[in-house]
Amino acid sequence: MHLYPEVRFTPQQVEPQRVLVTVLCVSGHNGSCGATTGAINDPDAAVQWMAMHTQTTGHVLFSRAYESQCRMAPPGGLPEHVTHTLPEDWRL
Ligand SMILES: [Zn+2]
Repeated sequence: MHLYPEVRFTPQQVEPQRVLVTVLCVSGHNGSCGATTGAINDPDAAVQWMAMHTQTTGHVLFSRAYESQCRMAPPGGLPEHVTHTLPEDWRL
């Protein structure tokens, strides 16, 4: 039995950290070329993609969005073996 809702969950970084980057070209007429990498997990590949795009189109302005995962944990940490979903007795 847990004393929810007095438990305060806080976000923790997920290891190994997996960061996705999405690059969108916002150069060109009306501010948006629209070319994009889609979400990829290789920051170096994103830089290479921008370099190639600039070289072939002359476009130099990009928007970059980063996405990472976190896991909500109670004080003292998550129950052992919980990675995605808490057991039912932890819920309201
Ligand atoms: Zn472009």
